[in-house]
This record gives sequence, C-alpha cells and structure tokens, in this order.
Amino acid sequence: MIFKNLTFQIFIGALLGVAVGLLFGDGALANPDSDAYQIILLLKSAFLSALKMLIAPMIFFSLIGGIISIGDVIKLREIGGITVLYYFSTTLIAIVLGLIAIFFIHPWTMYPAIVEIQTAIPESRMIDPGSDSIVLVLSQILSLALTNPVSALVNLNIIGIVTNAILIGLAMVLALPKQSSLFGFIDQVNAVIIQVLKWVLKFLPIGIFAIIVDFTIKLGVGEGNSADFLTQLLQFSMLVISLTLFHGMVVLPLIAWFFGDKSPVKLLKQISRPLIVAFSTSSSAATLPVSMRTCDEELGIDSSVSSFVLPLGATMNMDGTALFEAVAAVFLAYLYGIELTTIMIFSVFLMSMVSSIGAPGMPSASMAGMQMVLLAVGIPLEAIAILLVIERPLDTVRTAVNVEGDIIGALIVNKYRGNSPARQ
Ligand code: ASP
Repeated sequence: MIFKNLTFQIFIGALLGVAVGLLFGDGALANPDSDAYQIILLLKSAFLSALKMLIAPMIFFSLIGGIISIGDVIKLREIGGITVLYYFSTTLIAIVLGLIAIFFIHPWTMYPAIVEIQTAIPESRMIDPGSDSIVLVLSQILSLALTNPVSALVNLNIIGIVTNAILIGLAMVLALPKQSSLFGFIDQVNAVIIQVLKWVLKFLPIGIFAIIVDFTIKLGVGEGNSADFLTQLLQFSMLVISLTLFHGMVVLPLIAWFFGDKSPVKLLKQISRPLIVAFSTSSSAATLPVSMRTCDEELGIDSSVSSFVLPLGATMNMDGTALFEAVAAVFLAYLYGIELTTIMIFSVFLMSMVSSIGAPGMPSASMAGMQMVLLAVGIPLEAIAILLVIERPLDTVRTAVNVEGDIIGALIVNKYRGNSPARQ
C-alpha cells in the first residue's frame, strides 16, 4: 500500500508543510508567540530531541554489538584484522573524496547563507576549533577518549563513547566464554534501541511537516531567498549523488579489481541484485540475505568468510553514509555561516567515520548519528531538519554503495584468506 510507504508519507508531510506555511504564514502563523506557531515548534523540537536522545546509546551499543559479532577469537585473529583494515580504508577514502570534492565544488556559495548564527559556542563542541597545535589537539582527544563510560554517555562525549565501546567489545570477545549471556544481552539491547529508533522514524512525516512549515515561514516562500535555498539544496543533492556514484562505480570497483582480481564490469553485473534491493529498501540490514546469496551463488565466496564480513559490514561499514555525512556537515556549516577551521574539518572527518560505523543498517538510520557530526563543529542540531527534507532519495543511493562495499570486502578477504578463487 502506497499510503504505508514512509517515503510517500514524507512527501505528503513536506507538501502539506509548504501548503500550511504558504496559507497561514501571513495569518494564523505570522506571530511567533501564537499558540498555532508554538504547536508547530513543539512538534519540530519534539521530533529532533527524540532523534538526539538516541545518539549516545545507539553508538555505544551498536559498536560493542559490531565488535562482539566478530564472535570467536580465532576468526578475529584470522580475518578480523584484514576486514577491519578494509572497512577503515574504504570509509576513509570515501570521506576524503567527499571533503576534497567539496573543497573545489561548492556552487551553493553563490547564494547567501540562510542563517548567520551568533558566535555562541555550543558547550558540546568537542575539540577546540581554535587549537592550531597538533599536540594540543591530540592531548584534547586523549583526555576525551580516556573518560569513564558513564560520564562519556551522559555528556555525549562521542570520542569517549567510542573508545569505551571498542575496549569493552574487544575485552568481551577476549575474556568471556563464548556462551556468556552478556553477548545475548548486548544484542537484545541493540534490538531495543533499533525498535525505539523505528518508532521515532515513524514520526518522520510529522517532523518533516513541522520543519517545513517553519522553514517556509522563516524563509518567506515566494520571495527570492527561498528559491535560492531550494537551488542550494538541489546543488548539494546532486553533488552527494555524483560523489556517491563515483565511489560506487569507480573507486570500489577499482579496489575490487586490484585486490580481488575481479573485473569492474563483471562485478557490477554479478552484484546487481543486492544493489537493487539496497536501493529500493534503503536498508543494508534488510539486504543482508540477498548479499549472502550473491556472495555464495554469483561470486563463489567461502561462506565462512561472507557470514563474518557481511553482517559486520552491514552495521560497521558504510562508505556512502560516511561520504554523505562529511559533505553534509560542510554544506550545513556554510548555510549557517560557520567558518570551518582545519581542526573542525578534521572533527568532521573523525565524526563521520564514527557515525557511519555506529549507524544501524536501516532507512535514515544515519540521521541520528549525523547529529554528532554537527555537534562536533558547532552547527545547531536543528540544521538536521534541512537534511531530513532531502534525505529519502539520497538514502537509496548511499545504501546501495554501503552494500557494495560490504560485498567487495567479502571478495577481498576471501582472496586474502587463500580460499579457492572467487568465481570469475
Ligand atoms: N540506510 C543506510 C543503510 O541501511 C543507513 C543510513 O545511511 O541511513 O545502509
């Protein structure tokens, strides 16, 4: 049923938002203190706060869950290293690609920023953007990293959360017996968090509605600046899609060619099915069974490799998501009139990496983690609203590239492990 389709509902929410903003922007909603306007703001901030509420627990437990899903120590030693090295390198390439491209291509700067925020520095900013000494930055990172987990979670200290999660996850794999009930506990906590995230995302159409009403009124649709803003959004979307496609059609296939002996054209043909499923479901997790089958039937990858690399990749390896988040942060910084220093760009890089690792593989899941990228450079959290408006179509392409990255990872690890060569 089309009415049950989230993308359709969001579309309707957005349309209604523009309509209400246009119809009542000069009337019932003209006065910011009016009850009607306050209700719109309430809906908007309730939705954004609900997303924010999930950042810390989601990243923490999803990272621990990812690490413990590596499961046994032998596998961890045997193929854990190469798998994680592959994940990190490809995600790093994706982010660097995004950041370099946006350095040269930023057509939206022809139009003015939409909001000039005051110089107030959000207290949650993590690395002092004014630092120009690398030693100082490193010591800041270290003191943030080495914090106890409770204080890291409470203070939304992402670097502390990540460090603790990695240490706890690794320690669990190494120190606990395989049948320990703690493993099941972490998986169940993750299932609970994902359920809550699903509930929150169910309200996306209402959130989008309120966000768009507010935008329409603030920007004054019909005046020149709203047309400028729409052009900026379109330019940003085109850039993200082009870069994601470049990563998926050129960078990853080249990596598969060099390290997995697989010709790019053949590869794309063989993995087209999971890519289409990922594109249409916007969920790496939902695509997992199809990816498994493709690895087995089309690529001839040993199932002990794909059963390790693919599920881990579905939660931890998201090149498309990381690229999107990095480019989006730089774009939003411009829209909010924030000048990014080198250290802030570095924070964007770091946080996009962490956030992509911590995001579950479901539609729009990275929107919760995206907030920490924003926090890192002092962009107001409500800026996420701008991304939510254009989020659905972008999610399709980036999820396909996320899944492609996982499958190519399986191909390369399979070859590295010396298994019979993957099917040609
Ligand atoms: N939809 C993505 C995935 O499942 C996650 C995201 O970027 O929102 O891979």
